[in-house]
Amino acid sequence: MKLFIIHKLKLFTWAKNRTLTVFKYSRPLFYSGLLYFMLNANVFASELPDLGDISLAQLDSKKEQEQKTILREEIHEYLVDDLLLTDYLKKLGNRLAAQDQPHAKIEFLLVNSDEINAFASFGRMLGVNSGLILACGNEDMLASVMAHEIAHINQYHLARAMAQQKQMMVPAIAAALGAVALGALNSEAGVGALTATAAGMQQAQIYYTRQAEAEADRIGLQLVYKAGFNPQEFADFLEVLLKEEKLNTDGYTTEYLRTHPLTNNRIAEVKQRANQLPQKKVHPELNFLFARERLRVTTQPASNVIQYYEKIGEPKIYDQKLAWHYGYALALLRMHKTAAAKDHIDRVIAVKANNPFSILLLTEAAIENNDEKTAAQILANGVQKNPNNYPLLMTYIKFLNEHNQAQLAKRIITEHPNNRDPDYMLLKANIESAAGSPAQAYLTRAQLAYNQNDPKMAKKLLISGLQVKNLDQNSKLELQAKLDEIKALEKDK
Ligand SMILES: [Zn+2]
Repeated sequence: MKLFIIHKLKLFTWAKNRTLTVFKYSRPLFYSGLLYFMLNANVFASELPDLGDISLAQLDSKKEQEQKTILREEIHEYLVDDLLLTDYLKKLGNRLAAQDQPHAKIEFLLVNSDEINAFASFGRMLGVNSGLILACGNEDMLASVMAHEIAHINQYHLARAMAQQKQMMVPAIAAALGAVALGALNSEAGVGALTATAAGMQQAQIYYTRQAEAEADRIGLQLVYKAGFNPQEFADFLEVLLKEEKLNTDGYTTEYLRTHPLTNNRIAEVKQRANQLPQKKVHPELNFLFARERLRVTTQPASNVIQYYEKIGEPKIYDQKLAWHYGYALALLRMHKTAAAKDHIDRVIAVKANNPFSILLLTEAAIENNDEKTAAQILANGVQKNPNNYPLLMTYIKFLNEHNQAQLAKRIITEHPNNRDPDYMLLKANIESAAGSPAQAYLTRAQLAYNQNDPKMAKKLLISGLQVKNLDQNSKLELQAKLDEIKALEKDK
């Protein structure tokens, strides 16, 4: 095993150029696709992966978990905080990922950034910027960009690119995306914040090689096709990007094109490959259109969005028309113009009453009207009609919890017990605590800690649970059983 320590890299030039662009054109500063390294010998101790040897490029799972936790914490505030949207992205991503290595999970992140970009990171994390989704004309385009990134992940291209560039800090890279987010603070603070923490940080730029791009294109197109999308849309999307790039005389390059080199040749190859696959119909997928408009309203100032809807006017194509009313209604609601929103809401509800996007639109309108009773009813009906819809379930439980109905919330949770999502489990524990079941709350928190690879914390929580005053016999047995189970599992390791 070699110990590898990174010394000064000539990597700030690019960032400086970029800063100039940012000041001049106030483009959002977001270093997605860039990698930052902490100058810490411990973090940097690593084996050097040989080119092409994928086994060395993998992190051991504990280190990977640690890095992912750091990454999640650091990038957290730059993620789009909307359950419907993150759920949409996750479902689309999983549908694609299931076509290749279905058992290896990928975590999908929805990043709030106007920059047209998607990126793969260590720890099997895949980020998609809001700007990219807004630039996609249909779901097939978005699917194809994501499939391309999934291919980069499954083929360990990042690790290989690092190896090739002799910056092989495999374990350190996971911190990358988090630090990347620093750049997103705002234009001036971006690089400033970076330099401020530069005592511990260096940045490096990763370009995928042409060979890696070709491989990701090839595999990505297969995934897209197998998942039921039209692979031709990828070529169309790349063409749009390249055209826009050529129109840009300010020297600005989208992040996606920086990290994924694009030439006319590559587009021709993608086209050729896509044409070899049987043609599929482009998806007029309504959920994509709803998600895209919800994202527009969530990430842009509401007044700008309203201007946008007024400017483009009501589209003629049916699904586009519905999505237009949906987005318009949502934007008006967020401006507290409930009366103006009503007509647009009615147009959506008249035909798509049971769609989760519609249900949460109606809920938001009821809350805006201070009609909490109606809001609770809408959510209750929505969950009943869509029992497996996570965003609806979470929103309903949260709503009940916030309106002092912990008992009812607890009952709903008991009816949907198998969700392992950390946010769900944390909420579950809070509700159990509020509903007067502290032992249950300890049990849930312990389970969560165990799921997150922290058996020490899990045991601690169970022991605390056993010390709760006036503990009933059932809870006592349950806590003790869980404690014994974790101890036994630990012993086996
Ligand atoms: Zn690529």
